[in-house]
Amino acid sequence: MSIQLTSISKIYGSQTAVNNLSFSAKKGEIVGFLGPNGAGKSTTMKILTGYLQPSEGTVLVNDINVVVNPIKAQKNIGYLPEHNPLYLEMYVKEYLHFVASIHKINKTEIDVVIDRVGLSQESQKKINQLSKGYRQRVGLAAAIIHNPDVLILDEPTTGLDPNQLVEIRALIKELGKDKTVLLSTHIMQEVEAICNRVIIINKGEIVLDESLSSLKENQEQVITVTFDFKIEEQLLLQLPNSNTAENISDNSWKLSFSTKTDMRPKLFDFAQEQGLKILELNSENKNLETLFRELTL
Ligand code: ADP
Repeated sequence: MSIQLTSISKIYGSQTAVNNLSFSAKKGEIVGFLGPNGAGKSTTMKILTGYLQPSEGTVLVNDINVVVNPIKAQKNIGYLPEHNPLYLEMYVKEYLHFVASIHKINKTEIDVVIDRVGLSQESQKKINQLSKGYRQRVGLAAAIIHNPDVLILDEPTTGLDPNQLVEIRALIKELGKDKTVLLSTHIMQEVEAICNRVIIINKGEIVLDESLSSLKENQEQVITVTFDFKIEEQLLLQLPNSNTAENISDNSWKLSFSTKTDMRPKLFDFAQEQGLKILELNSENKNLETLFRELTL
């Protein structure tokens, strides 16, 4: 396993920021780390990168104990902190030379990395002349310059415009092919766009850890329907794959089904059989956003 956290807790004074958290991740996984503000995402990431000591638990990166051997572990980790601290007065290339020298990396690697993150056109500019999207690229270049196996990205797309978002997401997805990526975000679409696994934490604890494919597989279908007349709940529950039937008002119902097959045609047939008319119908898939709200309330 590239990342292995076992029973990690972090206590600040009387406050538990992370509570007995365990998960592992392997190469090729791009894990979306989701949670409301204050859930413990940044704390976990800082512990994982060796910048913060856990109060309890073990952290291994490529089997190296991060607490015991932070410098050795950090050779395997690329970290983009939340507020991407950059030396704004430096030129892009100058800054990356500086980062490369810290890692004792051959200077020839710098151009390779600049090219990989799409900074070639901007490499002669000062960092403070760059847009937020390009500054993020500089941060990413600095994070991958030593070719680490593990990438820890704390809210990598915050503050980017829609075009920059698309570009940076594509870049992260590309980088994730041969690395293990853990990225925090509170944008659900981001997880759907780039991640193949999602971990949701709330109040320092994991409340969901699932692959995106199995999430999609198990998605619920929710249909809100209004009939022209009264109907019994028991009858509605006889619809195939029916999970729940909730009476919202008068003749309006919220129905949930455990299938991806569109249930609307079945519902029309059903209404006809029952001698009812459908006055209104809305279908929605229970997406990650709904799940997130349910799990983190
Ligand atoms: P997230 O990244 O999910 O927003 P954080 O890891 O930053 O959450 O914070 C988790 C909890 O720990 C929050 O309640 C926060 O106030 C608290 N916390 C974070 N850093 C410190 C600190 N240095 N001292 C005291 N409390 C902290």
